[in-house]
Amino acid sequence: MSTIESRLQTVREQMAQMSADSGRLAHPPALLAVSKTFGASAVAQAHAAGQRAFGENYIQEAVDKIAACRALGLADLQWHFIGSLQTNKTRLVAEHFDWMHTLDRLKIAQRLSEQRPTGRAPLQVCVQVNVDASATKAGVSEDQAVGICAQIASLPNLCLRGLMALPDPVLLGETGAVDGPATLALHARVVQLHAHVLAQLPAGSRSMFDTVSLGMSGDMAQAIAAGSTIVRVGSAIFGHRAPRP
Ligand SMILES: *Cc1c(COP(=O)(O)O)cnc(C)c1O
Repeated sequence: MSTIESRLQTVREQMAQMSADSGRLAHPPALLAVSKTFGASAVAQAHAAGQRAFGENYIQEAVDKIAACRALGLADLQWHFIGSLQTNKTRLVAEHFDWMHTLDRLKIAQRLSEQRPTGRAPLQVCVQVNVDASATKAGVSEDQAVGICAQIASLPNLCLRGLMALPDPVLLGETGAVDGPATLALHARVVQLHAHVLAQLPAGSRSMFDTVSLGMSGDMAQAIAAGSTIVRVGSAIFGHRAPRP
């Protein structure tokens, strides 16, 4: 078994345990494997272990990797964009990705909808929220969330799936020392905001609004306890990332 396969197995077991501990064994979150900075061969190893959903932050790296994975013959891959996106790069996400988690501006959403190739399924999108209004994070405020979600839900080639948030970098120290209770409280606010937005959406958009994208390698336990439906896990699967130049 490769290192990636065995780490993936460990993460799955941890997720199952955390789901059981939180009384949600019947509804565990999905696992998004964050492969940023790792190559197509790492994706292939995770794929061999049954992983299909991959998350990427850097658009050009991602587009090259998607092509390399296709050349390797990897089937059924689902690509999720989870990075920050400049307006002039929206077409690459519209053309190459299945999901976009980090939508925080209507202008980007409009471009993604316009640029989605005809014949492809709608781009599945989450709105990034910043519930503690931290200056270090992107995302819309709690007050803005309902308004932007309602506007995005009306765009023809997007399917609004839910909300996404990052942990507070102060609570989730670089050293790995997580402030568990504070992180849990912050995540719980995102889940509450999801319920609030859901209740305000037009009836036709509610059934697909089922996603809370929350939790990374360091705060998976708190995210699962709070009610995350997709955890985005990178280093616990692929190992330590080299800093980007
Ligand atoms: C890098 C990244 C992750 C994965 O982080 P790890 O700590 O390696 O698990 C998850 N979500 C986003 C938005 C990221 O940028």
